[in-house]
Amino acid sequence: MRRYALLFSCLAALPVMAEPAIHWSYEGQGSPEHWAELGDEFQTCKTGQYQSPVDITRVIDGKLPPLGINFHTDTKTIVNNGHTIQVTVKDSDDFQLDNDAFVLKQFHFHAPSENHLFGKSFPLEAHFVHANKQGELAVLAVMFETGAENSALKPLLASLPAQQNQVETMKQSMDLATLFPAGKHYYRFSGSLTTPPCTEGVRWLILKQPVTLSPAQLAVFEHALKHANNRPLQPLHGRIIAE
Ligand SMILES: [Zn+2]
Repeated sequence: MRRYALLFSCLAALPVMAEPAIHWSYEGQGSPEHWAELGDEFQTCKTGQYQSPVDITRVIDGKLPPLGINFHTDTKTIVNNGHTIQVTVKDSDDFQLDNDAFVLKQFHFHAPSENHLFGKSFPLEAHFVHANKQGELAVLAVMFETGAENSALKPLLASLPAQQNQVETMKQSMDLATLFPAGKHYYRFSGSLTTPPCTEGVRWLILKQPVTLSPAQLAVFEHALKHANNRPLQPLHGRIIAE
């Protein structure tokens, strides 16, 4: 009976995410240490040498310029797909990286944070997933710590669907610029998707300066997600992190 219930929950997630038919999760038999056992297409989760997330401890001075991002996003839909709370966008933000334009596709949240900064975990991390014309990915990550209420999150939390896999139209537009810290300096390294199939070749840029959200706002995220959705830290295997 339990097995049937698990299968059903996998199928229910399909139309929304177009994700693999294999059920992965953060707990039990589908938990991160088992991802590679769930299917051949998930092998990189185990064999990859450039996996995310990581703990940023040693950093070299790469004289990286501050992030020059153009904010003009209009959000479209929001879904709690059982893995994360994800917002899709209508009109995408973009930024220049390596003489290439990367355009925002979606953003989503992890509680607690996946990446760590100098051994420190944060209660929430947002991932802004961008792609260039070739489909190569760059993720901008913003850390949240508890403190003052974050007014930029209000439209998102107001639109949060009551049920998993229920896609809701965003009731109000969101100003993504206000979700980013004032300081646009970041750490940069090469990594992977933090969810199966753990594909590598993802450019990671983690904003150094965290933003805040109130304990009550954090509780809404945690309640909606029902469980922690952070993949454990992965080894660097000699990778260099620049700032
Ligand atoms: Zn993520």
